[in-house]
Order: sequence, then C-alpha cells, then structure tokens
Amino acid sequence: MVGAGPGDADLITMRGFAALSKADVIVFDALANTNLLDLAPADAERINVGKRGGDHTLSQYEVNNLLVTKADEGKHVVRLKGGDPYVFGRGAEEVTHVAGQGVACEVVPGVTAGIAAPMMAGIPVTHRDHASCVVFVTGHEDPDKGQTSVDYKALAALIRGGGTACFYMSVARLSSIIAGLRANDLSSSTPAAVIEWGCTPRQKTFRGTLSDVSSTGLNSPAIVVVGKVAAIEESGLGFYALRPLFGQRVVITRTRQQSSLLRDKLAAVGADVLEAPTIVIDEPDNWAPIDDAIKRVGDYDWLVLTSVNGVAAFDQRLRHLSMDARCLASVKVATIGDATADAVADLLRIQPDLVPDNYVAEALAEALIKHGVKGKKMLLLRADIARQDLPELLSRAGANITEHHVYRTRLADGLPSNVLDALREKSIDWITFTSSSTARNMVELLGDEQELLNHLKTASIGPITSRTMRECGIDITVEATTSNLDGLIDSMMTAP
Ligand code: SAH
Repeated sequence: MVGAGPGDADLITMRGFAALSKADVIVFDALANTNLLDLAPADAERINVGKRGGDHTLSQYEVNNLLVTKADEGKHVVRLKGGDPYVFGRGAEEVTHVAGQGVACEVVPGVTAGIAAPMMAGIPVTHRDHASCVVFVTGHEDPDKGQTSVDYKALAALIRGGGTACFYMSVARLSSIIAGLRANDLSSSTPAAVIEWGCTPRQKTFRGTLSDVSSTGLNSPAIVVVGKVAAIEESGLGFYALRPLFGQRVVITRTRQQSSLLRDKLAAVGADVLEAPTIVIDEPDNWAPIDDAIKRVGDYDWLVLTSVNGVAAFDQRLRHLSMDARCLASVKVATIGDATADAVADLLRIQPDLVPDNYVAEALAEALIKHGVKGKKMLLLRADIARQDLPELLSRAGANITEHHVYRTRLADGLPSNVLDALREKSIDWITFTSSSTARNMVELLGDEQELLNHLKTASIGPITSRTMRECGIDITVEATTSNLDGLIDSMMTAP
C-alpha cells in the first residue's frame, strides 16, 4: 500500500519508489499521478480502479478481492493511492481486508494533499504567528452514516481560536459546509482559500473569505483551507506558481525514448507537458553489415556518433556481439553535442575525444578537419535520415568514411488523442521542435489541420530545425541560442 503523494510524481517517497520499481501489478486510483506507472517494470500489469476516466469503476469489494487474487498468484502487488493512503483513502480498510486473507502487507506513507496543496499555493497550514493546530476534515461523508458526523460547533471554535481546517472532497458541498460554520458564529470575513489540482502544473488558487469562497468556479480535486493562514502572503512562499513556465501547456514532439529528459526539465520549471511523439524508432532491416563494421571498429581512427539514439544502438550491438568498450581503446570518439557526449560517457564509459562547441554537423566536420582527417578511417554510425553534409565535408577533406544507419526513424502512426483534443480546444501554449523531422512529421500528422499550429508559440532547438520549420510554414517564436535542451528551455523562459 503506497501513498503516491499529492500530485507531482516526484513527491513520492523513496520507499514508494522502490516498491513501484519491483511491482508485478499496480492497482491505482484516479488521483495517483500516472507518470508513476512508468517506474514499474515494462511488463508489470497496470490496473486503473479509479473513478475518473477509467473504463470501469470497481466497487471497494471488487478492489479488495482483486488485491487478494493478484497476491495469491504470488505477485508483488502495489496498491497506489493519491496522497497518503490513510487520509480519506480507505487505505486502512483495504490493508485490514487483505491481511485478513493472509497476505503480507506493508504500508508506505505519502504526502497528503491537505498539507501539500496549500503549501504549493503559498499557504503554510501552521505558523507560529497564525495557527497552532490543523485539522483535516472530509466534506464527503460516508452516505451510509446518514447525517454528518463533523462537529461544526467544535470546528468553528477551533478556527476562531486560530486553527486551520483543511477540507477534502468538499467542492460540491462547500455552500453547506460554510453554512455549518457560519451557523456556529464563524465570521464571514474569516480567510479561506481553494486550491484545485494542487502540486501539479494545473494548479489554480483562489484566495478570499468565507463570504466568497463557495463561488470560485474551481472544481474537484481541491483542498479548501479555512483559517488565518489562508490570508498569509509572504515572500518566498509562493515559489511554486512563480516558476518561469508555471501552468504553460507544452507539447513535445520527439520520440518516446527521448522525451523523458525534456519532459523533466520542462516540468521542473512548472510546465504542463504533453507528449506527442512524431517519430518512431525502428531497428535497421539488416544488422549483418553493421555488425561486421562494429567487429572491426578497432581498425578505424575515428568513431563518429551524432545522436543519443546512435550511441544507444551502438551500445546495444556491442552487448549483442559480446563486446565492450575495450574495442575502442585505440579509436578516437567524436560526438555532435553534449547530450550525445553524455550518452557516450554513461553507456560506453568513454570520454569523447571531440565535442564541438556548436551543436551542428558543420561544426563537427570543421572540428574534425582541424584535427586532420586526410587518409583517416572514420566510422559514422547514425540515423537513416541524417543529412549528407557531414560525410560529404569529411570526404572532401580526404577522410575515408564508412557510414552505417544504426536505426531507422519513421513517422508516428498518429498523434495521441489527448494532444489532438487539446490542440483543437486551443488549450496549448507552446510546441517544441528538437529536430527537422519533428517539425516535418508534425505537419504531416496534422494534415489539413495544420492551422492548429498557428495558435501556438513555437520553440526551435536551432538554425537547422528553424529552416525546416519555415519550409513547412511554421512560424518561429523563439530559437535556442545554444542548440540543446537547456538552451531551448531558456529561450522559452525569456520569450516575450
Ligand atoms: N489520500 C488522499 C486524499 C484522498 S480523498 C490524500 O492524502 O491526499 C480525495 C480528495 O483529496 C480530493 O477530493 C481533494 O480534496 C484532495 N486532493 C487530492 N489530490 C489533490 C490535489 N492534487 N489538489 C487538491 N486536492 C487534492
């Protein structure tokens, strides 16, 4: 039983992370961040039992049985719940049931929304000057109980005395909750706040008083905070919503394999990232000639790798051939940019001999030529669609080039429906293009809906990509000054 934390995936605990990474089955709720599902092994079974968006809703009885059935199959089951499992999460009921059937259980706490959502909205739930106690209240009582068991008299007294009340599941019943507090002499000028989708890029905050807090238009999931702390606005506390791209919805278009780094970097500055991989990577049709070249890689003077995918493919082939980095002992390695260089260092444990300052093929050619390439044997491993400039420039300078395509790229089968919907609703702010083919493919995937791009700000990773964007009829809002992911994000953050 694992608490997923309040929203952002990285607010899970280390122990929760460890449990997910060895899960055979994950049974998850609507409020658990679905990015957490990626932490489990690829072949783990992922079962959505949530009310929001799931194909079917399981009753509590069915969830209990599901957990026992999967555990009885000898599987390591993670029951993933939003926030903390024991805070209005029925976690205790599930553990009791499952343990009663003889299944060994462990419970991992999570950060609960009642503390974290106010925090990310700039509201501390306790404060030496304002609040010395905090209470969590459910706004959604068990219907079987009939009337409410919340003692509004005591609650109103607690808030009057300087306490904080955090209401969960309360948006739909907010008017009657406020009526209950008002009826017990809590002033309508008592500070109150609503935080919708706290700790996520979709977070929205309303600050006011009991008199206006029930008509904010904000929806579930939300925490309603009542008490003096809801009026605190001190410098530093609002950091979350002040991040440079907070709340901006950004579509990223690179391959699924390459998205995570860009996604994480954008999320760290507050963006709401939607992945629309426009490119799919396939293996070459025939490895045999490539394997032959790799087996004789020691005969070359230089190995030239121009993309992270190329490095990954080379690494995978080395393993396949039961070889390792020692085959490169006498070979110099050149890469095109810092991401590729990092991949060489990470996967091959080799420090590249040459990384040009400027991350384009021409700069790499120039740097190599400066080194002296005449008569040198160079093995160039890259994509089938890579531009011909690099081998041409090197050959012209007298290098002896062998080129192999270690992966193939092709157009994705289509755009994910959530991205298409968001584009049509015009709820996207940015789209990023990190290579020429992402731009070309996006236009092809949109077909006669290309005009949807006209409503967005566009970010290009560098001059080559920009050129293709212009050819495709895409206007450019910003172009990265340094052609890498950090440069791309910098240009977005400083966009007019
Ligand atoms: N176990 C969860 C609470 C589950 S009850 C926890 O500890 O956080 C579901 C309620 O939690 C929602 O109705 C809402 O009131 C609150 N909630 C959960 N996630 C939230 C979020 N990201 N922002 C605001 N409220 C949230």
